[in-house]
Amino acid sequence: MTTVAKPMPQPTAVSQPYWDAAGEHRLVAPRCRSCRTLFLYPRATCPACLSTDLDWEQLSGRGRVYTFTVVRQAAHPAFTEDVPYVLAIVELDEGPRLLTNVIGCDPAEVRCDQPVEVVFDDTGEVTVPKFQPVAG
Ligand SMILES: [Zn+2]
Repeated sequence: MTTVAKPMPQPTAVSQPYWDAAGEHRLVAPRCRSCRTLFLYPRATCPACLSTDLDWEQLSGRGRVYTFTVVRQAAHPAFTEDVPYVLAIVELDEGPRLLTNVIGCDPAEVRCDQPVEVVFDDTGEVTVPKFQPVAG
């Protein structure tokens, strides 16, 4: 049986600082210097006011499951051995939401509004922020 490589994020000039920070196990997001909006995913312009005057801000890495699904059938052969797994949108304590995985628990135990914290998956070419339930 051959192993199929997982598709990995492809950092761009705009998103490179996000992925560089992830490689250092820090979660960051762009903040608009004009209207102070903090947002993800990384973009070249503020989604609220279209300003290009942006800065990067480190986040706590804590949030809650906003919504999720349990993937039971791999849509790509590289994920065959991962199913079932949790695909989720996590709302960070600072406000932005991101598409991610909830790991480190039984998928059947994941709930909306569940407190989670970031963990960094270093298994691929690019470090990927994922989330796990907060202990206790
Ligand atoms: Zn703005």
